[in-house]
Amino acid sequence: MAEGHAVHGMAARVRRLVGQPGRSSGPPGEAFDPAVLDGLAIGGADAHGKHLLVPVAGSPWTGHLHLGMHGRVSVRRHRRALGADGLPRTDPPVPEGLAWRFLTASFLLEVTRPTICEVLDAEGVAALHERLGPDPLRDDADPEAAVARLSRSRRALGVLLLDQGVVSGIGNVYRAELLWRARIDPHSPGRAVPPEALEALWQDAIDLMTVGLGAGWIVTDPRQLSDARDLLTRGEPVPRWRRRYAVYLRRGRPCPRCGETVRAERMGLQTAYWCPGCQVLHP
Ligand SMILES: [Zn+2]
Repeated sequence: MAEGHAVHGMAARVRRLVGQPGRSSGPPGEAFDPAVLDGLAIGGADAHGKHLLVPVAGSPWTGHLHLGMHGRVSVRRHRRALGADGLPRTDPPVPEGLAWRFLTASFLLEVTRPTICEVLDAEGVAALHERLGPDPLRDDADPEAAVARLSRSRRALGVLLLDQGVVSGIGNVYRAELLWRARIDPHSPGRAVPPEALEALWQDAIDLMTVGLGAGWIVTDPRQLSDARDLLTRGEPVPRWRRRYAVYLRRGRPCPRCGETVRAERMGLQTAYWCPGCQVLHP
């Protein structure tokens, strides 16, 4: 499943279509009939956690997408001949699982196999933001609110970090690696962890996910992080180096910090990985 940095990356790609009127097509469903957006232009794109929002210019509507496990958003350059109405004349072949296609004079946006593909009005968008927790990659995310949500709960921090209603955008890889970097055992109840430690964890989430957004993949290894930051500062792309994680998917292997055996256990909807040697359990 795409973690938040990937959905913010998708929003950046969708923004390339802004202002270009397009042909909107796809199978009409109960929640979304692509035909209602035909001839209009995309007005922007925004992500909140794992949700992608695509406001449509000159209309009260916003496309709302959630990709789940198998969904995909692709944006490709695609020159098409224009008809008298200024819209592309011909459609490319339809891919399997297509939910929504938006074809402009120069770009082709395709959404396949999403979990959610619907149109919201302003009230619906506000309700969505309301039910999602702060997202480390959003400028409007309030760090105090994020820490307060984590620190008032009796639930395990490992569960809270994946609960999109508490904080949003953090997925299973970031959960494992953030908690290892913070030296916190995922079973620690949110309320047992000192607020300063939660603040530092939130800052680290912002930092790591910002690098992830810039790189286009999840970088958490200290050496790779430092190299990736240097490249991003210079405006250069980050190559897809071999992924190195401290604990994620490393059950039974030695912790790179203390040598203790990494453990794994189902926690929330996904498997949590942690090191019992150097990640402290706050009781
Ligand atoms: Zn360790």
